[in-house]
Order: sequence, then C-alpha cells, then structure tokens
Amino acid sequence: MSQRTSHQPTVHLISLGCPRTLVDSEVYLGRLKDAGMAIVDKVEGADVAVINTCSFIQESIQESIDTVLDAIELKKQGKLKAVVVAGCLVQRFKEGLVKELPEVDGFVGVDGFGDIDAIVRSALNGEHHSLIRRRPQLPHRGQPSRVALTPSHYAYLKVSEGCLKGCRFCVIPKIKGPLASRSIDELVEEARRLIEERGVKELIVVGQDTSDYGVDLYGRPRIADLLADLGKLAGLRWIRLLYCHPSGITPQIIEAIRDIPTVCKYLDTAIEHADDDVLARMNRGITSARLRERVETLRREIPGIALRTAVIVGFPGETEQAFETLLNFIQEMRFDRLGAFQYSNEESSAAFRYPDQVEETVKQRRYDRLMQTQQRLAEEINRQWLGRSCEVMIDEPAPDDSTVFLGRTWADCPEVDGLVYVNSATPLVPGQIVPVTITDTYEYDLVAESRRTFIPHSAFRIPHST
Ligand code: SF4
Repeated sequence: MSQRTSHQPTVHLISLGCPRTLVDSEVYLGRLKDAGMAIVDKVEGADVAVINTCSFIQESIQESIDTVLDAIELKKQGKLKAVVVAGCLVQRFKEGLVKELPEVDGFVGVDGFGDIDAIVRSALNGEHHSLIRRRPQLPHRGQPSRVALTPSHYAYLKVSEGCLKGCRFCVIPKIKGPLASRSIDELVEEARRLIEERGVKELIVVGQDTSDYGVDLYGRPRIADLLADLGKLAGLRWIRLLYCHPSGITPQIIEAIRDIPTVCKYLDTAIEHADDDVLARMNRGITSARLRERVETLRREIPGIALRTAVIVGFPGETEQAFETLLNFIQEMRFDRLGAFQYSNEESSAAFRYPDQVEETVKQRRYDRLMQTQQRLAEEINRQWLGRSCEVMIDEPAPDDSTVFLGRTWADCPEVDGLVYVNSATPLVPGQIVPVTITDTYEYDLVAESRRTFIPHSAFRIPHST
C-alpha cells in the first residue's frame, strides 16, 4: 500500500461480491489515491473504511450488512473515523438503507467512480453525504487508474455493465440497469496498461453477460472481436472468458476461443437448469436440447475445452422430476467445473411472488445430491489429468512448504476453480508459467512435479577469460 504523509487521510476498502465489483473497487481506490489519500491494508486505525457491497442474494446481503456493522462498531470504539458504504446494497435499497444505518457517514451507489473521493472527504469532515442515482451512470469511462486488489499477474477486465436478459430469479438488471458496454478501444488500452504497469499475464474478461458485449454500442455482439484485439497484445499469456450466456455462444465466440492462441480453451457459461419447464419459467431463453447442442458443438470444435457452469436448485415450481432431469443432464454433460446455488427468493425479482415456492429443506436436499454428484464427476474428470504434461501459472508459494507452490492450469479460473500443488526444487514466483507433469489428483485439485530442470549453481562453468 502507498507511502503516506502525516496529513494524508488513510482509507481501507473492503470489496465484497463478484469480480465485477472488484474492478469497481480498484477504480475507487485509484480515484482515492489520485485524490491524495493513502490506501492502507488494515481497517483498524484507518481514517475511513469504504465497503463496496453486494446484494445479489440474501446471503450476500447479510454478509454486506454484517461487514458494515463491524465497521460501525470499530468507529464506536474510536478505531475508525468514518464509514462509507458503496455498491449494489446501496443501489438496491437506496433511501431505505440510509434510514436503517444512520451511523454510516456516506453512501454511494454502483457508479461512484467520479464521486467517491468527495464522499470520503465529506465523511471525514463529519458531513453526511450520499449519492445514489436512480439510473446509475455505467460503466466507468476513459482510463481511470486502478489499484490492484488481485495478485499483479492477473486482473479482471470488465467489458460491460448491466444486462439485457430478464432471468426471473435475478435482480441485477434492477440494480445495474440495461447493458452498457465500454468501447473496444478503451478496453484494449486498459488491457495494455494492465500489462505494462502491473505485469499482468492473465486477463479475465467479465461482465454481467459477456455474450451480449457491444450490442448496445455497435448494434451486434462483438465479444469475439474484442478477444481478437486482446489476443494481439504482447505480454499476455492467458485470456479467459467468463459469464457468457449459453444462448449467446455464437460461432464467432467458438472460433475466437479455438483460434486465438492466448485465449484459454475454457468457457464459463451458466446453464442454471436443464428442465425445459423450469428454463421457461426462469425466462432463460434456451431449451435443454439447445444447451446440449451448445456443449456438444463447443467440445467438437474445441477438443478438450474446460467448461464451467452454474445451476440453481429449488426455483419455484421445480418438481422432483424436473430436478432429476437436471441431475441427469449434469451427469451426461460432465462439466469440468460447476457451482450450485439454492434459489434465493429475492424481492423485486420477477419470481418473487411465484406461488409454488420450494421448501428450504427440499432445496437443501437437492443441493446436497447435486454437489455429491458433481464431486464424483469432478474426481473422475481430474483423474484424466494424471501423467499429463501441461503448463501451470504460479499464484503463490505454499504457506507451509518452501518446495511447494500453488498454481493453476489454463482450465482453472482464479478463486473459483481448482489448484495445482507444484513440487519444485527451484523457487518459483507468482506469474511464472512452468511446465509440469501431473503426479496425483484429487476431486478438485491436482499435484504436479515441475519439469523445470534444476541446474545447480556449481554446474555453471564460467569460461576463464583468456
Ligand atoms: S444473464 Fe440473467 S442471471 Fe445473468 S445478470 Fe443477466 S438477468 Fe441476471
């Protein structure tokens, strides 16, 4: 974190929720730093705590509120001067939240990119100041500076905000509004700066629905074009595409993943369910036959592609039969990575007032069965890596063994997928890509031996100067 002078206010930012919020937090920190504030990595003792919140589902709302209450408690103890709350919780609940939390010194919605420093300064001057626009001005524009909240060798690139889809369980379009894309030029410039200024080697492309990227700006989806331009940037080793709606997986996207060398043969595409009645009730705009065809086409066109997906169990009206259909589909499709969620009945979502809500105990039982099934599949899929030679990007040293390093293959996204435990006699550094051989497998993780030959120093024969 930055060197500080005595009068410089100190700010600690807590970023909750998803990678899209993390990018906002990095932009907020860049703005605060450019405004002369010092960024500190501990909340205790900071002048201001900024909490960038999430409100996607009940669980994340609770986590956000608990984090705000913890900060308020520190303020009461005199370990903090002010608390500023930002992000999706503020945007979703607006004045209601302001009334509920009078101890908070400032509120800003999901678009505080140009205002966060003024809000923090007001908070420090004891003035309560809030800025919650009904229609958030998204996404951030231009080339704002970003303070890294990820290890320096990988970064998220947020290509758009908002969404055009209308999934009936989702409140994001109500929080973030309709799709708003950044231009290809802006994004390529941002990527170039991340490579040059941070030494980024892996770029993770995110949005609410990346398959629609550019529709608002260019009148048609242009994610494949963006990937092509990012693929020309020197210094990038891996480009990874997340949050691609299955109905938007076009031949152009498939070709981009297949043909651009630095684009990982990896795709994150949430199916959410596989029963046609439930898919229709969710308004997913796709059928299970089409989902199957998309998966089969991806695997035919890009042999060995790693597919990550997400599913929801317990959507209103989900019968036992519909759940079995989902379970069978998961077993048939054998996704490499899968995240499952129990349906959260979110006020202001279209499904909130659906009559046939599923009981919590039934949701839990279905969730457990699905995760057990996926764990077994993940173990079988991982076993196929045994003996394979591949490249691993090192993220960090293992905490308790100096000859072990934690990394990921091209088939693993940071923070959500598996890890590779790399045994190496040679010290390895974060961001290094090393050739390995997989020597053991677990249900989600792998063990590998570095194939970087260890050349003992004494082997170097310094030619005698003549
Ligand atoms: S695609 Fe559906 S789930 Fe994803 S952000 Fe849009 S509305 Fe929400």
